[in-house]
Amino acid sequence: MLVIEDDPAIRSALVRSLTDRGHAVSSARAGLDGLQQALDDSPDVVLLDLGLPDLDGHSLLSMLRAVRQTPVIVVTARDDDPSVVKALDAGADDYVVKPFGMDQLEARMRAVLRRTSGDGGSQALEIGELAIDPASREATLRGEALDLSRREFDLLLYLARHAGEVVSKREVLADVWNQPYGGGERTVDVHLSWLRRKLGESAAHPGYLHSIRGVGIRLAAPSEDLEGPADDSADDAPDGAPDPRP
Ligand code: CA
Repeated sequence: MLVIEDDPAIRSALVRSLTDRGHAVSSARAGLDGLQQALDDSPDVVLLDLGLPDLDGHSLLSMLRAVRQTPVIVVTARDDDPSVVKALDAGADDYVVKPFGMDQLEARMRAVLRRTSGDGGSQALEIGELAIDPASREATLRGEALDLSRREFDLLLYLARHAGEVVSKREVLADVWNQPYGGGERTVDVHLSWLRRKLGESAAHPGYLHSIRGVGIRLAAPSEDLEGPADDSADDAPDGAPDPRP
């Protein structure tokens, strides 16, 4: 793993503790050097301090994310929400607030590795005409690739792994955003609406994503008997009715 931290005392303490615990650790004292190492050495996890002298941790994260999916745990002294939210939105997998204990850090590293290595199964999933491959991080609908952001893909994968179940936004926040304490339900809503658009559906006309009011969300294949109006009741045809072919 790679520790990017400018404070020499914190950096050496982290490197020492992690090494004692059996991790292979390299470190960088500045952002650009850290980014270079992250790209050259492909560490399994990057521990990233947000307050760096040369390159803001958020910028580093965005640059890294543009080319790599390396798991990143942000280390921040700033206990303020916006900074953490910004880091998570920029692609951080988790965060710890200084001061933190090594047990907590290790638990978070394990959780991040479990998630990103697809311990939940790297097996491809198929729900109706929706196919999701955690290994290649590709999703297709009716054979056509969906252009999903990292977070949209994670959200879709999480829901697909719980296909048929209603999951609460709190659970989604805990597992996809790693925010077990809630308070970001609006973020889930926003990503859900983006996901719906990409799947060619809407909350009012759901296909795969069903909102269960006051409870949560369920992903399920569109049920065949609800797919369209029956022939004899088609007088009030909705938008989705088949075009009369010439
Ligand atoms: Ca710092």
